[in-house]
Amino acid sequence: MHLIELNDICKVYHLGEIDVPVLKDITMSIGEGEMVSLMGASGSGKSTLMNILGCLDRPSSGRYLLEGRDVTQLSADEQAEIRNSKIGFVFQNFNLLPRTDAVENVMMPLEYGRRVRSSRECRELAETLLERVGLKDRMHHQPSQLSGGQQQRVAIARALVNSPSILFADEPTGNLDSRTSREILEMFQKLNTDDGITVLMVTHDPDVAAHARRVIRVLDGTIVDGSEPSGEPAAAAAEPATGMEGL
Ligand code: ADP
Ligand code: MG
Repeated sequence: MHLIELNDICKVYHLGEIDVPVLKDITMSIGEGEMVSLMGASGSGKSTLMNILGCLDRPSSGRYLLEGRDVTQLSADEQAEIRNSKIGFVFQNFNLLPRTDAVENVMMPLEYGRRVRSSRECRELAETLLERVGLKDRMHHQPSQLSGGQQQRVAIARALVNSPSILFADEPTGNLDSRTSREILEMFQKLNTDDGITVLMVTHDPDVAAHARRVIRVLDGTIVDGSEPSGEPAAAAAEPATGMEGL
C-alpha cells in the first residue's frame, strides 16, 4: 500500500454552460518518505491536483486513497480533520496573517488541531519551530517586517506545527531569489531525510524540480512521466521481462 494512490482522477470545472476538463484520468502513487516534484507548465493542472491531494478540493470522479482510506467520499469536516492532523501546506505567496507576528502565525493551526494544549505550550512549540527554521531573532516580527525568504520560513514552521506526515508545497520558491530558493529547498530536503516527512513540491521550474528524488511530469491535465515510485513502472507502460536486463 502506498501513502497516496490516485486512480483515474478527473476534475472538470464548470464555467456557466461550459465544462472545462482540467485533470484527465490521473493515476499515480506516492510512497511514504518520498520527496517528489510535480512539474509542468503554467495551466497544466498542478495546483488543481495538489488541492485534491491535500483534501482542499474534491475530484469530479476517480478514487483517492490516502493511507488506504478513500478520502473522496468524506464529509467536509472529516476532510478538515485529515488536513489538520496529517498535512502541512506551503504556498507561493506564504499566506501569512498580516499584522500578526511570526509566533502567532505559527500557532494559528494549533487552534484546529486535535490535541488540547495550554497557550503557553502552543507558544513554546511555535518558538521551537521558528528556531529550527533559523528565525530565533525574528519571533515577534510581522510579515511586512520580514523578507520573502523569512516569510516562507515562518510558513514552513506553521506547516509543521501539527506534526504532519506529508508536506505539500505549491511553487514554494516562486517569489524568491535563487539563493533564498536554494535555502528553502534544502530545508524541504532536510525535513524529508531527517524527519521522514513525505514532501510533494509543485513547480514549473526544472531546477527546482531537480531537488526531489522523483519528478512527476504533468502536461495538459495528464501525467506523462514519473507516476510511480522508481522501480515500479506504471502497469500500462511496463515491458514484459525478457531476462536480458543487465546484459
Ligand atoms: P497550474 O497550477 O499548473 O498552473 P491550475 O491547476 O491552477 O494549473 O489550472 C489548470 C487549469 O484549470 C487552467 O486552465 C485554469 O484556468 C483552470 N482553472 C483552475 N481553477 C479553476 C476554477 N476554479 N474554475 C475554472 N477553471 C479553473
Ligand atoms: Mg499553480
